[in-house]
Amino acid sequence: MAVHILLADDDLQIISALEEYLQAVGYQVRTVTDGNQALAQFQAEKFQIAILDLFMPGRSGLELLSEFKKISPETEVIIFTGYADLDSAIEALRRGAYDYLLKPVPRLESLHALIERALERQRLSQANQAMVAELTAAREALAQQRRLELKRIRQIGEGLSKALNLDRIIELLLDLMWDTLSLSVVGLKLRAGDNLPDKFACRVQDGWDTKIQPYLETWMQQALQATSLETPPVMNDSSSAKLAEQPIIFRSGNLDRTIPALIWAPLWVNHKLVGMLGSGRESAFTPEEQEIFEIFVLQTVTALKNLALFEQVKNLASKDSLTGLFNQRYFWQALSKEVKRCRRYGCPLALLFLDLDNFKTINDRYGHTVGDKILQELSARLQDFVRSTDLICRYGGEEFIIMLIQTSKDQAAILAERLRQKITAAPMKINDLEIPLTVSIGVAGLTDQMEPEELVHRADSAMYCAKQSGRNQVMVD
Ligand code: GH3
Ligand code: MG
Ligand code: MG
Repeated sequence: MAVHILLADDDLQIISALEEYLQAVGYQVRTVTDGNQALAQFQAEKFQIAILDLFMPGRSGLELLSEFKKISPETEVIIFTGYADLDSAIEALRRGAYDYLLKPVPRLESLHALIERALERQRLSQANQAMVAELTAAREALAQQRRLELKRIRQIGEGLSKALNLDRIIELLLDLMWDTLSLSVVGLKLRAGDNLPDKFACRVQDGWDTKIQPYLETWMQQALQATSLETPPVMNDSSSAKLAEQPIIFRSGNLDRTIPALIWAPLWVNHKLVGMLGSGRESAFTPEEQEIFEIFVLQTVTALKNLALFEQVKNLASKDSLTGLFNQRYFWQALSKEVKRCRRYGCPLALLFLDLDNFKTINDRYGHTVGDKILQELSARLQDFVRSTDLICRYGGEEFIIMLIQTSKDQAAILAERLRQKITAAPMKINDLEIPLTVSIGVAGLTDQMEPEELVHRADSAMYCAKQSGRNQVMVD
């Protein structure tokens, strides 16, 4: 497209000489002979170059220059002036004119060269502006991405640290990973230990081979058994204790070509290897994605630690510290729930109230420490004896209650007798001692309208009868 030039001068001779020349070298020229006309023309059309006489009727070149720079700052303005007005021309340069030319008529070639230089500067400045705009947009996009990432990372932390239920943690973790990293597969494997069950959870993108799920689980299972993972990563510096819990991220080029890009890390909780987290897809993970994965690993470990702490606190509130059995407080809660459930579904429920015989004498003879060990040994035996759904509680000093789910009073009586015999048959082995022990057991069963307190009271009374009748026996309510 031809370069558009506005030529404003009240000297017609100059106008015609310049117009002819400029058109001849290929520019499109608009001529005016008055300042007001020049402004009107400039408002109506777009000019790359304006050549302005300093003194014209209507408006001066300097006035026009200021107006033009407001309307179109990128238009380059060249001032045309007589020698006597050089000061004004210099003032024009200060106000943003590109250059000035001296009258009467300049050498036409130098005018051409001047216009070309002005155009070149204009092009450079435009390119520069485009580049700045591009850079600004890129910077803004980056900042936006960073804000999103930070927000997501905060969500990861908040969500996971609040969850105190293992299934919820796993669900949240996989959801967040799935939304944050574009994955084709993500899996978490936990191995049974301490407070954690053996567990595998996985998400697979639609369209991916469904066999990937068992394949990943088997692979994780095997990886967890690998001896190289059995010891925590040891760092060489003095802060190793702290760093030992840092995640070590493993990147595998591909997993037998089944998962082209795989990234995974073992999960260490309190110096124990509890599981691993892994994710994969077709394309390699960027360093930023690897960092985000690392955050997920750290947050998962934190969430699992919190969960372990929470379990401990819960245990403190509900369990007896000597025997590890449930305490009376927990027992009442559990019993009241169970009684309601039995009412609703009409299922049977029975209690055994068990009291050690002459325990005071045992304490007196062997000492309190041995007495404590007997209580622990007995608790272990009780736990072996009942089903996992039954509940054993240390009701008081040497009194225990066993809540038998789905069990009638008659069935409970048979169980109680079997339990009594089992305890009597094998003396307690404490240190090198063998201490015979007998127990008295009272049995009661839930009937319609019976409140939890009455059920316990009846079992207790039955036990008291057993004591009265000579101890080492079972009495049924
Ligand atoms: P009975 O056959 O009538 O039940 O006689 P007993 O001696 O077992 O009953 P008693 O209620 O007179 O005494 C209970 C004893 O249990 C007294 C107490 O020192 C002991 N005991 C309670 N709690 C503990 C404990 O935590 N550790 C130990 N070593 N002894 C305990
Ligand atoms: Mg007692
Ligand atoms: Mg007793």
